[in-house]
Amino acid sequence: IGANLDATIAVHGDREALVDRAQGVRWTYAAFGAEVDRLARALVAAGMGRGDRVGIWAPNCAEWTVVQFATAKVGVILVNINPAYRSHELKYVLGQAGIRGLFTAASFKASNYVAMIEEVRDECPDLEHVWVIGQESWSDLVARADDVSEETLWSIGSQLTPDDPINIQYTSGTTGFPKGATLSHRNILNNGYFVGELCRYTEEDRICIPVPFYHCFGMVMGNLAATSHGACMVIPAPGFDPALTLEATAEEKCTSLYGVPTMFIAEWALPNFADYDLSAVRTGIMAGSPCPAELMKKLIAAGIDEMTICYGMTETSPVSTQTRTDDAFDKKVGTVGQVGPHLEVKIVDPVSLETLPRGEAGEFWTKGYSVMLGYWGQDDKTAEAIVDGWMRTGDLAVMDDDGFLQITGRIKDMVIRGGENIYPREIEEFLYTHPDIVDAQVIGVPDDKYGEELAVWIRMRDGAEALTPESIREFATGKLAHYKIPRYVRIVEDFPMTVTGKVRKVEMREITVAEMG
Ligand code: ATP
Ligand code: MG
Repeated sequence: IGANLDATIAVHGDREALVDRAQGVRWTYAAFGAEVDRLARALVAAGMGRGDRVGIWAPNCAEWTVVQFATAKVGVILVNINPAYRSHELKYVLGQAGIRGLFTAASFKASNYVAMIEEVRDECPDLEHVWVIGQESWSDLVARADDVSEETLWSIGSQLTPDDPINIQYTSGTTGFPKGATLSHRNILNNGYFVGELCRYTEEDRICIPVPFYHCFGMVMGNLAATSHGACMVIPAPGFDPALTLEATAEEKCTSLYGVPTMFIAEWALPNFADYDLSAVRTGIMAGSPCPAELMKKLIAAGIDEMTICYGMTETSPVSTQTRTDDAFDKKVGTVGQVGPHLEVKIVDPVSLETLPRGEAGEFWTKGYSVMLGYWGQDDKTAEAIVDGWMRTGDLAVMDDDGFLQITGRIKDMVIRGGENIYPREIEEFLYTHPDIVDAQVIGVPDDKYGEELAVWIRMRDGAEALTPESIREFATGKLAHYKIPRYVRIVEDFPMTVTGKVRKVEMREITVAEMG
């Protein structure tokens, strides 16, 4: 990763590398490279070396990317910590990954990171250093760079191998407790590069990245795709804000816009969406959870006609499939694209583990450079997840004759009602066609008679005539089989979410069940 960044700097040194709108930071690649090298030397001076774990617990900012590349340059394993974590979760990660140094932000929104670290510090014997970005501990660290020469840094870099672990990324925790995926240079640099290739990035591109860096969507599909192509990373704000995202996209003349579906939904729902000049936007990536076809159609109609969809997971660095910028409309809006370069895929019967023929739905397995080294410190979980080099994703998919894949749901989310397998995704896609529904999430809840029953949570468009459970069921009657029409309908303002912007169906299920009594 370090060598790849140096190669970009050599060719594109005077081009803009990074814009941090909140801090007013603008760096060329040469300036960015200088920041990275200084911090890399400082880390060596602080005694951090190949294989040591250093954490980062901060919202998106320019320094986050400096830490990302500086640690990669000296072989330190960066552990990304979810900015939404609180002291208890922090303590778990610090202990589980044996973190020796921790970068953090002074505070963000209502969270006082420094105070939370102090709360648990005594219980984390491995933790030697806390560096607060922008404060004295940060400048003291950076000042130590002078103790280590460029030659030393070069010599350390030349000893690293592509298969060195470089990153521990925790999964989103959508379905349970987050697991730490250990990823190598080979894993994530290739993934960032190929994702960028499929978006057809060049040094002319400017990518608006509102997704969190702590997750691979931000740090790999964003930062590594950008740096491996000489493109510019634009940070619209420390945390997600729909208006600031569109403002940054317009004012920075971004050519690419990222987001999980809920972010695009929030942007689209802004009453003044049409006032933002998004004419420079050519491409972008929607990923992370099911991407509604209706939403893709709207974005394409708004002029972002090369928008792509990716599918993947933290454990696969993350992207496995992606639509191409020039795919036909129906493939672009209705699938997650084809398998990425140099990767293999097969669809497997989750029970018999037999490979299924094309056109049949089963579990998505993938193999190749993208498969993680393993779950950090959890060999038993690694052995369950990776079989002969194949990553078992836990997602259900079907491949058409042209090799395009559709994700039909997560095995854990499939609802079995009276013996019928129901894929919530199908019902959600149908509900998105209702003009007053902004978002719909379908879950299964226990039922004495049928084993499971369907429940749906719905968010209405602002200013829409009040929807009622009856009117929604009526809308579906005659269009969906009777057993797919949700029995419980709940109209809400918000869904329980992960910081990566994913809906936590586990929590929705608990809330719905508690309400059912
Ligand atoms: P956890 O594993 O902790 O429960 P998670 O699986 O949500 O959380 P991530 O690794 O961030 O954590 O997300 C990967 C998952 O996101 C995939 O397994 C898949 O279920 C879902 N996903 C990602 N992209 C898409 C997509 N384009 N369409 C449908 N689902 C997607
Ligand atoms: Mg997962």
